[in-house]
Amino acid sequence: MTNSSLLARLDRLRAELPALGAEAFLISQPENRWYLSGFSGSSGWLLVTDQQVWIATDFRYYEQVGLECPGFELVKVTTRFVDVLPELLTKTGVRRLAFEADCVTFADGQEWAKAAPDVEWTPTKGVVMKLRAVKDASELATMRAAIALADDALAVGLAQARPGMTELELSWIIESYMRTHGAQTVAFDLIIACGPNGARPHARAGDAPLIAGEPIVIDMGARINGYNSDLTRTVCLGQPNDPARFWEVYNTVLAAQVAAEAAIRPGMNGQDVDAVARDLIAEAGYGDYFGHGLGHGVGLAVHEEPRLSRLTPSMLAPGHLVTVEPGIYLPGWGGVRIEDIVLVTEDGVEVLSRAPKEPIVG
Ligand code: ZN
Ligand code: ZN
Repeated sequence: MTNSSLLARLDRLRAELPALGAEAFLISQPENRWYLSGFSGSSGWLLVTDQQVWIATDFRYYEQVGLECPGFELVKVTTRFVDVLPELLTKTGVRRLAFEADCVTFADGQEWAKAAPDVEWTPTKGVVMKLRAVKDASELATMRAAIALADDALAVGLAQARPGMTELELSWIIESYMRTHGAQTVAFDLIIACGPNGARPHARAGDAPLIAGEPIVIDMGARINGYNSDLTRTVCLGQPNDPARFWEVYNTVLAAQVAAEAAIRPGMNGQDVDAVARDLIAEAGYGDYFGHGLGHGVGLAVHEEPRLSRLTPSMLAPGHLVTVEPGIYLPGWGGVRIEDIVLVTEDGVEVLSRAPKEPIVG
């Protein structure tokens, strides 16, 4: 990440301060901290003022701050953060301070307010998340690499998948490919769910064997430099055992997914994108079997803003990255889900996931 993209992010955050009536922002949420500082450690707090940024952390990370956050002022935390907070606020002259009320525990918030009683504390929600939703050039480059790696790893896994192999064995083939080809880790524990297991949308891979002709849901992603990809395909080893049902469900999900992707435009509400897929699935008679949202933003967190969901309005803008992942889940039979990551562009959408959607393999 270049220093200039970090400075641009800090400037975007500073631009939010006047409307909040605050002079500075205290950041504690881990991905927000990483986004604004480049600091990848597990514990730390940023104080962002008009001109400067302080990073408070403990002994484990003093050297790391120097490497990852040049230009940031280090505040050494030898006991607890709340013990250095009053002096830091006095030194910076901050009297009105915005903080992340949606991430700070109630106990921490109370302690901070008690330790700095003269400060006016302004609770905020989702301010940095809103900034993170719009990816800059360096983030997009990393995301494209994480997405391509997931595509490649899935192809390698499917080329080796055989009936009798367990879900976990296939999971490890995919995971080890990602880890030996540039991923720091997986984005999340892989979901590989064969047959009826696939009716549970977030079933983890287990020791069940892969069975020929059953739908197998594979949901996976790679993490590169903190950024996560997220990809789902549903496949069958050989011809489906229940071809009429399989093709009806598969083609319904695929049609809903392709139609929703084609509909995406900047300025569109995520609720309306969700409706494109949901209406098609309902028309096919499977409305009761698509119980989750259509998609979610993805980046430093696997699930972030914006949402494609009937529950919450979410206005799409250029630079947003979202998944599009309709599914149909039939208890006792199995599931079909197909998921891509797409980029909202100035005038439409670009589908970044390239994994084939032809379900018959082997
Ligand atoms: Zn997924
Ligand atoms: Zn997803």
